[in-house]
Amino acid sequence: MAEFKCYICSEKAATGEKFTFTSNGAVHYDCFIAHKRKELGNQNAELLSELAVILDAELTHLLALLRVEVHTEDGKKHLQTKYKEIEKAAGETTKLINGLKK
Ligand SMILES: [Zn+2]
Repeated sequence: MAEFKCYICSEKAATGEKFTFTSNGAVHYDCFIAHKRKELGNQNAELLSELAVILDAELTHLLALLRVEVHTEDGKKHLQTKYKEIEKAAGETTKLINGLKK
């Protein structure tokens, strides 16, 4: 299983945990949001909270898909396609959050 190191807390971010990727590398969801919240202060605080809820939902969806058991070849193919779609969506939300400026 893939294992990454979170660039904020330096702990492992393993498959099954909520984490995402920025241009800096892998980062835990909680570390990412907390760090951004500190950086922004009151600026864009509400928008950050809203995007954080959206990203949380997307990462939860990803983790749920990881637990889906498929045995047929077609099932595996479709599951992989679905996983990639949500992964892409989560990546876009991460980008939006990362781009929030003070
Ligand atoms: Zn972390």
